[in-house]
Amino acid sequence: DVTKTKGNDFEDYFLKRELLMGIFEKGFEKPSPIQEEAIPIALAGRNLLARAKNGTGKTAAFIIPCLEKVDTSKDHIQALVLLPTRELALQTSAIFKELGKHMDVQVMVTTGGTMLRDDIMRLYNPVHVIVGTPGRLLDLARKRVAKLEQCSTVVMDEADKLLAPEFEVLCEEILNFCAKDRQIMLFSATFPMSVKRFKDRNVPKPYEINLMDELTLKGVTQYYAFVDERQKLHCLNTLFSKLEINQCMIFCNSVNRVELLARKITEFGSSCFYIHAKMSQMARNKVFHEFRAGGARVLVTTDLFGRGIDVIAVNCVIHFDFPRNSESYLHRTGRSGRFGHRGLSISFITYEDRHDLFRIEKELATEIQPIPAEIPREQY
Ligand code: ADP
Ligand code: MG
Repeated sequence: DVTKTKGNDFEDYFLKRELLMGIFEKGFEKPSPIQEEAIPIALAGRNLLARAKNGTGKTAAFIIPCLEKVDTSKDHIQALVLLPTRELALQTSAIFKELGKHMDVQVMVTTGGTMLRDDIMRLYNPVHVIVGTPGRLLDLARKRVAKLEQCSTVVMDEADKLLAPEFEVLCEEILNFCAKDRQIMLFSATFPMSVKRFKDRNVPKPYEINLMDELTLKGVTQYYAFVDERQKLHCLNTLFSKLEINQCMIFCNSVNRVELLARKITEFGSSCFYIHAKMSQMARNKVFHEFRAGGARVLVTTDLFGRGIDVIAVNCVIHFDFPRNSESYLHRTGRSGRFGHRGLSISFITYEDRHDLFRIEKELATEIQPIPAEIPREQY
């Protein structure tokens, strides 16, 4: 019984040698728990619903089976991966390329904010795996430029966000272009009603994996500080001078506040980038890459960046504006403490926020403590 094996090695899945090389070169030695559960099921062709917390390796849990199943002697699209944001699509396709480095797999990424014509040209050549956001993908499918009728594997990552009201119909229509006997895999940290509804309509007999009863936000020490709106900047400055931060992400609740805060931080003399949905795609990509490369210590952003983005050096998340719901808090806070590293989360709480703080703490069954005068170095 595949579901009972534990302590597996990547060799146990009988993967193509070229794929194993890619996995090991990426530095993965053993499958993570979600990979151990999901890979055999995915390889067996079953529909899958996989729920696991942030930073547990969900991406490779679907990329490895997708790469294994691709038949490079055929030229058509065989796997489709849908993501809710452009950055996630780019990041995911980059990992496809890394893990598939020694294979002949052609991976294409397609998102809004780029020239449609370039995508159309690209599709004249073979594409085995297409990774993208729903709007552009649907566009290409409707135009019959992306031919999906033989696409037999469909992955929806960050499914909760992907199946939010504005995206759900798009995803359903895209699915209808794919092979009738396609395998569907949904990955997410949370599975709200929208996902359940989609599953009931579109995903027959899925195998369900739920690793969420493991501690959520494990490894992240969470603090809050009661502040006045006017004290927030001062408070941030104090934190910067006290903490030894590798890289830090600061969340605001609006685009304007992101820009304003980034300007202030630069004035203090800290290196700082910002990113938000109103920037051009090119600017967003540039900032994202430079931040990952360590080009600044601070990145100020909105919930756009709260999800799934993996920057390993981030050891501190600051909720400059407190999020309005627990999902958003979970996703933002999950930016630190990736893959077993430790991290800090610090929430600025105004008088108006205090009810939200207690509600979110309760909903996530977690502990958010008042910030102490000194934060022990071993916590992050
Ligand atoms: P999730 O999608 O579950 O939030 P990611 O797929 O982004 O998590 O993975 C988080 C981090 O863990 C990434 O930096 C990734 O390279 C790393 N990782 C994934 N699988 C393994 C593994 N088997 N061994 C070591 N590191 C891994
Ligand atoms: Mg992910």
